[in-house]
Amino acid sequence: MGTEDNNDRDNIIGFATLPEQVHRKSVKRGFDFTLMVVGESGLGKSTLVNSLFLTDIYKDRVLPTAQESVEKTVDIQKKTIEIEEKGVKLRLTVVDTPGFGDAVNCDENWKTVERYVDEQFNRYFQDESGLNRKNIQDHRIHCVLYFIPPYGHGLRQLDVEFMRRLHRKVNIVPVIAKADTLTKTEIAKLKSSLLNDIDEHKIKIYQFPDCDSDEDDDFKQQDADLKSSIPFAVIGSNCIIDIAGRKVRGRQYPWGIVEVENSEHCDFGKLRTMLISTHMQDLKDVTQDIHYENFRAQCISQMQQVALKERGKLKRDSAVNIDQIGGTDTLLQQKDEEIRKMQEMLSQMQEKLKESGKDPLVNLSMEPGKTNRDSVINVQ
Ligand code: GDP
Repeated sequence: MGTEDNNDRDNIIGFATLPEQVHRKSVKRGFDFTLMVVGESGLGKSTLVNSLFLTDIYKDRVLPTAQESVEKTVDIQKKTIEIEEKGVKLRLTVVDTPGFGDAVNCDENWKTVERYVDEQFNRYFQDESGLNRKNIQDHRIHCVLYFIPPYGHGLRQLDVEFMRRLHRKVNIVPVIAKADTLTKTEIAKLKSSLLNDIDEHKIKIYQFPDCDSDEDDDFKQQDADLKSSIPFAVIGSNCIIDIAGRKVRGRQYPWGIVEVENSEHCDFGKLRTMLISTHMQDLKDVTQDIHYENFRAQCISQMQQVALKERGKLKRDSAVNIDQIGGTDTLLQQKDEEIRKMQEMLSQMQEKLKESGKDPLVNLSMEPGKTNRDSVINVQ
């Protein structure tokens, strides 16, 4: 036994510590995650974000008046907080879209969001080609929580338009807001019609990756539960209620208490598990490997097209230049010929002057090569 241990020790190279090294490095660097919340005002977005990350991220929020809401266009507001748990730091950025779905005409609300998403991709693309590539700050949106009102019967035109325009650029996770206003049966019915609409409009919401076959049964069950709960029916609350010594986050009504984290009451717990504990890294990976790669490929192909156009233009320009050079040569030949004739005339004149006994006043001879070319250049 002792000899076997010694043999094992002798055969160790040391790379088994690689996961620890990666772990230590990542923990030191900290993690970034950017979440965007989209949905009309009053659907409980801020309350849900506070409940998810146990902070009051919207302390200083100023709500618009009714008149302002009617006229308002979509705004983009960004807040970053650093949270720490067991020595692991998370830089969480929440991007809010106040004004979305609030105005009378919301037809183009998706455009502001799309522009913002593209800007972040573009910023990353520029940073990647810059000098400080190693310290890029990632501002790309890793997940969009899309809030669907609980009082409808399915997706509205606004929801369809938003999702169809953005599903290839961001991970969309749809949620049914304020689910405490619905009974269990109503929630099941709404979920089913939302899924039908999503399917019918060929919308690709965030797809959970397949569970590895070597995962334990509990994990597989949890994964199956998560997948079957989409779209998550959520409840948010900023209040902690004491129920017989048990402190819970919930909403107290005259007829009872709704517990936010109770899976019998809503899917908040599942959403939090998915978003924070199990799929945060996958959301980031999909953003990097699929959405950003699509954007990057498009950028590169556009750049190639521009380069091709430029090359074509350059070719045309140089062809014109070559023509001009051809023209210049002809011009030079003509000038040479003219000068040769003039020289002939001059020598004849000199001969005549000599014959008449008068000295030529000037020596009018010319060096054909040099003078010709200089004069031609002056002519030009
Ligand atoms: P936001 O404008 O979308 O950010 O909505 P807020 O988070 O400010 O919530 C608007 C109102 O809805 C507030 O009075 C909240 O207390 C209430 N609210 C938030 N979440 C829920 C919920 O899950 N259920 C119910 N019934 N009300 C909620």
